[in-house]
Order: sequence, then structure tokens, then C-alpha cells
Amino acid sequence: MELPKNLNIPESEKPRLVIIGGGFAGITLVKELHKNDFQIVVIDRNNYHTFQPLLYQVATGGLEPDAIAYPLRKYVKQFGQLYFRLADVESVQPEKNLIITSEGILNYDFLVIATGAKTNYFGNKMLEQFTMGMKTIPEALNLRSLILQNLEKAIVTKDPTERQALMNFVIVGGGPTGVELAGALAELKKFVFKEEYHDLKMEDMQVFLVEGSGRLLGGMSEKSALQTKSFLQKLGVQLMLNCKINDYDGKLVHIEQNNPIPSNNVIWAAGVMGAPFAGLEATQAKPSARLLVDAFNRVQDHENIFAIGDVALMKGDTKYPKGHPMVAPVAIQQAKNLSKNLLRISTQKQLMAFAYRDQGSMATIGRNKAVVDMPGFHFKGFLAWLVWLFVHLMSIVGFKNRLATLLQWFSNYVNFNSALRLIIRPFQPQKPKIDG
Ligand SMILES: Cc1cc2nc3c(=O)[nH]c(=O)nc-3n(C[C@H](O)[C@H](O)[C@H](O)COP(=O)(O)OP(=O)(O)OC[C@H]3O[C@@H](n4cnc5c(N)ncnc54)[C@H](O)[C@@H]3O)c2cc1C
Repeated sequence: MELPKNLNIPESEKPRLVIIGGGFAGITLVKELHKNDFQIVVIDRNNYHTFQPLLYQVATGGLEPDAIAYPLRKYVKQFGQLYFRLADVESVQPEKNLIITSEGILNYDFLVIATGAKTNYFGNKMLEQFTMGMKTIPEALNLRSLILQNLEKAIVTKDPTERQALMNFVIVGGGPTGVELAGALAELKKFVFKEEYHDLKMEDMQVFLVEGSGRLLGGMSEKSALQTKSFLQKLGVQLMLNCKINDYDGKLVHIEQNNPIPSNNVIWAAGVMGAPFAGLEATQAKPSARLLVDAFNRVQDHENIFAIGDVALMKGDTKYPKGHPMVAPVAIQQAKNLSKNLLRISTQKQLMAFAYRDQGSMATIGRNKAVVDMPGFHFKGFLAWLVWLFVHLMSIVGFKNRLATLLQWFSNYVNFNSALRLIIRPFQPQKPKIDG
């Protein structure tokens, strides 16, 4: 079957700006530029925007997936005559100003790559095969199903060793994702599972948080790290700092200088890397695979190709010589700066270098517990938790989604429970290979 040329997008007098990725960076650029003289085409492999910071709540049954996703076609439509195409971008041919997608080819005048990041397994195929990632909504739903399926299996098994492996949860990576997930799982055990799984000895359910360095929340202050450690320990999470996972075969987690932990639930939150596609290999940083950009987010050696957000690596900023953190505010601010620069290019004005304004960072560890680092000061506890709730709520795209999240959070808070524990689509874990 012949694929449609230019994805059935009509030719136009206006320069065509193709934005690949409807994440934080992509949707901000659309919002900033829609009134201007570009024919804007947004391409994403999903037909929705994902609010990744709350994926862990979907995985632990605190929120419905719909609350953290927003239809990209609806988002784009509100800005008028813009185009959205559901397609996976496979490669770019910069010399022809052309991208190749799963649905056909498309010419561009300007290309913005905002494809974000993907999970980094550091080349370990076993970890990639057997651990659970949590970067997308399908992955979060798989994890939710796996947690519930394994507890159901733990009830019926006669083998105590198997039961323990089904009830051991190992989270790898002590960054915000690992910390938030560990706190949520420990609270599920305390408030929900203890009530509902009375035929299991819930004291046997163990949550391990394994981190390679000597502290949690590497990107945050020492105070936040220590406070988080104390919060998690009070919740019964077993912290394993300075511990490196060597391997996992689907049954045993092998940790350097430690006895292996039997577990059927290993969650990988220990690394991300850029998610570019073929055609720009010469401009990819190693080993992060992020695209090297100049101070204007222009991809090295390409006049009309830009990269913003997690996929971009800008090294020129003296405050961030190794590149900016892979967080939503960087993606949003880069998109805003690029929108101004794209207009400056069309009016032949001098471009403005990107300067990151750090607005602080935060993590929540569970009910009433969070840590917040603002430039110059730190706070923790209930107030920090309220700030965390407010900031996350206001950042979700769409009024209906915000309202759904608020109502769900309120209900979870007053009931110490949520009813979002349905195994609608069972997860089929990969079977460990048997040697010999
Ligand atoms: C679990 C988790 C928790 C997080 N928590 C926080 C937090 O608390 N605070 C914070 O600031 N940041 C957090 N982050 C990081 C934050 O989500 C990212 O920094 C942010 O999403 C980056 O935005 P982006 O637009 O660059 O990429 P993304 O938001 O990842 O968007 C990329 C888009 O590109 C699309 N795409 C990718 N490749 C292709 C392709 N080849 N073809 C077509 N489409 C493609 C994807 O479908 C996606 O829609 C978290 C991330 C995760 C995974």
C-alpha cells in the first residue's frame, strides 16, 4: 500500500513547522506559536499528552490513567488551523528537509524535535527484559496489574519461597520516581492491603529501594535527602544505599556485595536517556543519546533543526556544564525561548540564548509528607505536601483532568483508600529463560 505523501497535509504559503512530540516541550511550543505565520504540524506516536510526574499514582491505583492524559487532537484544535498526525517518526533526512514516519513522509521548513526520554538500562538486556519500566501510561497500567496479580498469586501458592518472591517489591533508583513509588507502595500496604488481604501475612510484604549512590534524591538538597530517608524508613521501606544491581533474571535480584533478593516485582527507575530517531547520530552525545544543541536549541550543524526538552543536551550554560536536568520546567522554558527565536529568525533578528530559571524541586513520600527545595530555602512535611499537591494539580493539562484528580485525591485522603484496583488487562510477565 502506498503511504500518503506529506501525510495528506496541504501545501501552504506559510513555512511548515513540524513539531515531533506532544510532551511538555511540544505542547508549550504550539501554545506560544499558534498565532504566528507558520503552518504547524504536531506528530506524536500517541494521541495523548502524558503528565509523567503522576504516573506512579496510576501504577499504585491512586489515579485513573485518563486523569493524567489529554487528547492531543483536542489540544491542537483549540488553537485553530493546526495539524495533528498520529505517527511514529522513524528517521530524518536533513539534506532533503524530510522526515520518514510510520504513516508516510513529510517535508518541513523548520523541524523541532521534542521526543523526550526513554528508560536507560545501560545496555543490560536482562534488566530490560525482566524489570518493569514506568515511563508511559501502558507501563504504569502493567505495573498496577502486576502488583495486584502477584498478591492474588501469593494468597493461593503453597510454596513459602514463591510467596515471599511475590510479596517482595524491589524499586531500583532513589530519584524522585523511585522515592515516590516506594512511599506509595508502603502506604498501600499499610492502609489498603492490610485490610483487604487478611488471608496474607502483610508483614511479609517488603518494599526495597535500591540506590547506587550514598543518598536519595541526587538532584535535591542534602536536607531533603535526609528527611526523605527518615520518612521512608518510618513507612517501613528497606533502603539499600550504595548498592548496585548487577542482574535480574526474573526471579532473583543480584545486588553487588549482598545476598540476592527473590522477587517477582522489580521496578526500574534508575536511568533515562534521550529518545532521538535515526538520521542525526553524529550530533548525539554519548552515552546519553541526547541531541547536542547550541544556546538557541539548534541541533549542532543543522540550521533549521531544533531540539528541546529531555532529548536536548545544551552544554554551554556555565551553571549546568553537563546539561540541564531532565525535568518539565526545562522543557517548558526551552519551548518558550525557542518560540521567540523562531519568530526572530523569520524577522532576521539576533537570537536569544536560553537561560534556565530554576524554580525549585520537590518530591512527595506519601500522605502529608513531602520535601521542597526552593532557590535559597528548604521546607518539609504537611506544608510541603500541600505545595506539592497544588503545583502538580495546576500543571495537569485540562480543567476536567484537574477536577477528576482533585476529587480522586480528596476521596483517597478521607477514605484512606481508592477503588482503582481492577485488573482489567492482565499483565503477562516474561518467563525467565531456563539454562541448558
Ligand atoms: C515517572 C516520571 C516522573 C517524573 N516526575 C517529574 C517531576 O516530578 N517533576 C518534573 O519536573 N519532571 C518530572 N519528570 C520528567 C518530566 O516528565 C520530563 O522532563 C518531561 O516530560 C520532558 O518533556 P518533553 O516534552 O521533553 O518530553 P515528553 O514529555 O516525554 O514528551 C515526548 C513526546 O514525544 C513522543 N515521541 C517520542 N518519540 C517519538 C517518535 N519517534 N515519534 C513520535 N512521537 C514520539 C512521546 O510519545 C511523547 O508524547 C518525570 C518523568 C517520569 C518518567
